Amino acid sequence: MISLTGVGKTYPDGTVAVQELDLDVRRGELVCLVGPSGCGKSTTLKMINRLIEPSTGTIRIDGADIMDQDPVKLRRGIGYVIQAVGLFPHERIVQNVMTVPLLYGESKATARQRANELLDLVGLNPGKYGRRYPHQLSGGQRQRVGVARALAANPPVLLMDEPFGAVDPVVRVRLQDEFLRLQRELDKTVVLVTHDIDEAVRMGDRVAVFAQGGRLAQYATPAELLADPADEFVADFVGSTRGLRRLTVTRLDPGHLEPLDGVRTGDLGAAIDLDSSLEEALAAMLREDRGMIAVKDGPRFVGVLTPNGVHAALRASLADLENERESAAERPATPAPGPDLEK
Ligand code: ADP
Repeated sequence: MISLTGVGKTYPDGTVAVQELDLDVRRGELVCLVGPSGCGKSTTLKMINRLIEPSTGTIRIDGADIMDQDPVKLRRGIGYVIQAVGLFPHERIVQNVMTVPLLYGESKATARQRANELLDLVGLNPGKYGRRYPHQLSGGQRQRVGVARALAANPPVLLMDEPFGAVDPVVRVRLQDEFLRLQRELDKTVVLVTHDIDEAVRMGDRVAVFAQGGRLAQYATPAELLADPADEFVADFVGSTRGLRRLTVTRLDPGHLEPLDGVRTGDLGAAIDLDSSLEEALAAMLREDRGMIAVKDGPRFVGVLTPNGVHAALRASLADLENERESAAERPATPAPGPDLEK
């Protein structure tokens, strides 16, 4: 869907912001660009919608070179969400979102209807919030308006630059979850910049770790990144709490649940879904403070998870990774010579 080949950016003052970058993003994928400040993440993002022009290399969207396209038309297909949401302070929320459909020539009535739908979609009741001004919303709510506005043109691609950076950690996690849920529904192709490795691991289908000087240090799934960092820099950046981080990327497995035998459903208290991560399961277990948590598959109780189950699941998950790494190491780097060559 999006492919960067040999893309580099050197600013006029000689700063090399991005070096020889190869990166591909598949349709419907959410890719996080993560790394310390100043390593070229925002520059990379802005090259995709031509807010910044690359010095070298080629960027294609759906096979078409973006340099052959009119920048204004190009940006219509690309939603852009930034941290400092950039709402118009003197316009009501609904008008802020309407701006985009109006820009594309929709009638006022259609634009208003679309804006209301979008506010609903991002969890803001349009009746309650639509008539407010930006300063009358919380930071998290303003961020949702920013997402609604970016979605207004229904772009297939969304670029997000530290979209949840300006809100406190609790709201941040809530916005991340909401966005993931939204993303499953909308199926956009998303590139998201963050300096927060936890956010990257939590949100990304794949994560690109950038190092100083605009070098791509590793591009892999969160699980691969945690299990098998490419170098010391990535290992450091990903941190030493690998085992714990593994919790966020490991799903519950029915095999690690204990049977419900003899427990009355009424006694089970709160329940979590079978498709929860181990992290969510553990958090729920701690919240409930009963040493176990009931697990449901849809409406049906399928078992209870205990701390032993969490441990077993985590061990199995880490063991799987070890096995994958070993079999990858055993695989010959070059194919064995065929019979012809042995003659
Ligand atoms: P990140 O998003 O990872 O924090 P940026 O892409 O914003 O990094 O910046 C990468 C590097 O390019 C930094 O060293 C930054 O100072 C430099 N840079 C960014 N914009 C400009 C500019 N307009 N002119 C010169 N240098 C810039």
